[in-house]
Amino acid sequence: MAMTTGGGSVVVPANRAGRRGGVVDEDEKLVFETSKGVEPILSFDEMGIKDDLLRGIYNYGFEKPSAIQQRAVLPIIQGRDVIAQAQSGTGKTSMIALTVCQVVDTASREVQVLIVSPTRELASQTEKVILAIGNFINIQAHACIGGKSVGEDIRKLEYGVHVVSGTPGRVCDMIKRRTLRTRAIKLLVLDESDEMLSRGFKDQIYDVYRYLPPELQVVLISATLPNEILEITSKFMTDPVRILVKRDELTLEGIKQFFVAVEREEWKFDTLCDLYDTLTITQAVIFCNTKRKVDWLTEKMRSNNFTVSAMHGDMPQKERDAIMAEFRAGETRVLITTDVWARGLDVQQVSLVINYDLPNNRELYIHRIGRSGRFGRKGVAINFVKSDDIKILRDIEQYYSTQIDEMPMNVADLI
Ligand code: ADP
Ligand code: MG
Repeated sequence: MAMTTGGGSVVVPANRAGRRGGVVDEDEKLVFETSKGVEPILSFDEMGIKDDLLRGIYNYGFEKPSAIQQRAVLPIIQGRDVIAQAQSGTGKTSMIALTVCQVVDTASREVQVLIVSPTRELASQTEKVILAIGNFINIQAHACIGGKSVGEDIRKLEYGVHVVSGTPGRVCDMIKRRTLRTRAIKLLVLDESDEMLSRGFKDQIYDVYRYLPPELQVVLISATLPNEILEITSKFMTDPVRILVKRDELTLEGIKQFFVAVEREEWKFDTLCDLYDTLTITQAVIFCNTKRKVDWLTEKMRSNNFTVSAMHGDMPQKERDAIMAEFRAGETRVLITTDVWARGLDVQQVSLVINYDLPNNRELYIHRIGRSGRFGRKGVAINFVKSDDIKILRDIEQYYSTQIDEMPMNVADLI
């Protein structure tokens, strides 16, 4: 029997929604909702976490679990397949780190958890958080990422690590060389999972998945989980616990969004120069849509005597690492970059994001502006819009039921 729930969706009999576990709406489209019975646990103490790990969590500075941590930690450490969505900067990646520490058996020297992330910087950030939180349980984690020495990967993996946090290419490579042994892997985590399952990475992820043991637990994490991604999860997940966020609740109150009407491309540069003092109040990230544009803008800013740093995927990894280290340390304040920086990277001092170019899709918009306003901090996002960009901006505004006003004169006061 079909039953009506709230919001005009209809719970359909198992043979229609099927193992996909979704709900069909009036247009017969599958819609997904948070699973029933997901209850928040309000303190880390009540989660059954091992003592030495708890000590690591508190020592790292976490006092209380965030909303997503309150809901998703338990099913993850209980071994359930989990799809966890929450707004940017609310502790999802940190949750990966702490749950992973809980599930590994440090008495064994085999790889038990594989985390895959879309960028090298994010994979190493996650490795660092695991090492920090897991300090008192002596966890061994290794970032298996492109651009680094394969020899070092081999050495580390042979020595024995419990957790690998990597990017798809290098992980695939290490598995195929049998340097990364998969027989003891019990948990696969895809951070930024909608990106990992989108066109660019999907085949590599399925490739990795084929090498993993059949009783594998799978956890998917992201701030954005479009329906077409949720629809394919049934291919590799079993009765997952879903914790989802409605589209109109995805933007954060703390991040104020603005636009500047620049009319023409040529006028963006002067607008940016006018904003330079605002950029350097704390730290700022400026997004361009191509690597070439990043290079061009960086040059142009520098030749006008502005201090900026730049990072993109065509730079040697050593240089990327150095720029990341400087920016994380606050030694540089303005970073011009591509979407390599859009997802997951956590630098708490960033309070301003500029979309010099509007992003190419709606998901990227959420991720880019989410580089500011980390864990409840204030943030400001400023979009440069040419005349023919206005409709794109309005589409974003409508899609997320949010408000993007014209930038006020006193924008600096909001930072
Ligand atoms: P997300 O992956 O959801 O974008 P992160 O896990 O990167 O979020 O966390 C964002 C910031 O919040 C990080 O600086 C992290 O250290 C901090 N954070 C995460 N969880 C907590 C917590 N429970 N208490 C305090 N700070 C937290
Ligand atoms: Mg994250």
